[in-house]
Amino acid sequence: MDGIVNRRFGLRVLLGIVLGCVVGGALLVGLPTGLQPDDRVELTTATGRTHTLTFEASPSGGDAARVKAEPPLNGLPPEMKALGMPVEGFRKAVAEATAIAIPSARVVARGEVSVRPWPVEVLHVAGQLFLRLLRMLVVPLLLVTVLVGIASLGSISRLGRLGFQASFWMVGTMVVAVAIGLIAVNVVKPGAGLRGQWLVDGEGAADGQSVSELILRVVPTNPVKAIAELDVVGILFFVILLAVALLQIGPRRAAPVLGFFQSLNDAVAVMVGWVMVLAPFGIFALVAHTVATQEPSFLGPLLRSLGLFALTVTMGLAAHFAFQLAILAIVARVSPIRFLQRMGPALATAFGTNSSSATLPVTLRCAEEMGLPRRISAFVLPVGATLNMDGTALFEAVAAMFFAQAFGFDFGIGTQILVALTSVLAAMGAAGIPSAGLVTMVLVLSAVGLPTSKLPLLWAIDRPLDMMRTVVNVSGDALTCCILQRLNPDLSDPDGRDGADGEGEAEAAKALRD
Ligand code: ASP
Repeated sequence: MDGIVNRRFGLRVLLGIVLGCVVGGALLVGLPTGLQPDDRVELTTATGRTHTLTFEASPSGGDAARVKAEPPLNGLPPEMKALGMPVEGFRKAVAEATAIAIPSARVVARGEVSVRPWPVEVLHVAGQLFLRLLRMLVVPLLLVTVLVGIASLGSISRLGRLGFQASFWMVGTMVVAVAIGLIAVNVVKPGAGLRGQWLVDGEGAADGQSVSELILRVVPTNPVKAIAELDVVGILFFVILLAVALLQIGPRRAAPVLGFFQSLNDAVAVMVGWVMVLAPFGIFALVAHTVATQEPSFLGPLLRSLGLFALTVTMGLAAHFAFQLAILAIVARVSPIRFLQRMGPALATAFGTNSSSATLPVTLRCAEEMGLPRRISAFVLPVGATLNMDGTALFEAVAAMFFAQAFGFDFGIGTQILVALTSVLAAMGAAGIPSAGLVTMVLVLSAVGLPTSKLPLLWAIDRPLDMMRTVVNVSGDALTCCILQRLNPDLSDPDGRDGADGEGEAEAAKALRD
């Protein structure tokens, strides 16, 4: 992974974002996208009456649309050439057709953009190809990362106690992170400013689900169907059960299956690497398309909302980091200052690389220098780098609620619990590489029935947020090590070097190689 997660990668992605904004901005001014099939336009007549117009693409195709006004507008033809037309041109056309003075017209809500000038269409195809590549990798990533991560714990009996404690603290702290994120996003409401501007067509939210339905959804009746339908909760439930069963039957009988998944894991990592090489171009196209297809009057609220979203995530991450340090002092009895001094290089590497996996060698080294038993760090840190992601879980929950607010859904407690659950699972399913959390974001949105069409907007501001959440991810792994050391004094070795058994050594070596 080293080759793709270095500083140059970050710079290229940044360049892609900046160029995307510039090219998209130029297209927005020079070649405005114009009216879309599901737009809502508000016309105000000279007498001060307002009429809301909606468009439906006409079966005759082209730029013709069926136009409906509410309240009705005398003389308005039922079908007009409107799609792709700037709102100003449309205003004049309506004024001419109806012989009514219409001084102002503005787009007040917009759904999916589907009628674009050709340069914007090219950007759309390029960006969508990149997104499809990412989506293509979600199921393989989910299947293999989680399976190999859990299976690398060794055997149930030998690592049972440690595994249970590690899972308890990892999942427990992720749940706290998600709770902090949900509180922050419900208080700040960063998406509320966009409410009513983004329309959802044909897709409903999962609100109103009963608790029993939520519980039933966890167990898939057919794992293949769960995979085909990208039912993330079902997939993960099956994979976790399979991983535990593989541990149960022992290394000899599990070897063929594990060997297969290990190879698949390596191959998928290579594929992720290829896709990441395309990331700067893909992100350029996505950002440029997103900017170019904005309705200019929406830009102000959008920038304000994205800024508020970034602030909410940052505040949440800071609060969770403080919580981690408090747990460290109270449960692990480790001085936060000493922790920050010793783990400093790992946290700085996480900040610079945006990758828990790339940071792993440094984290292992710091843990060793902190005197943490290798028997503990050799399995907690590699597994944690893939599965334990407090910062990512918090980010996923805040982002999902941001979209819910922007699309105008009032998620009740039941759906927010589903958001929390899928955020934890999606964070576990995210690989420890840059922006992986944004890839698995699709899963959280799909699980609660939110559209994914506006997800590219987050790419534009993901870099700094990813830097911060990766720091919180890595500090969470180190925290788990410190807690496990405290809970298992029998596993401590004074010099921190001789506690590792053969498999622990092998895992550490593998982790270092990866
Ligand atoms: N970059 C994060 C990590 O490696 C994952 C994410 O995108 O949230 O830990």
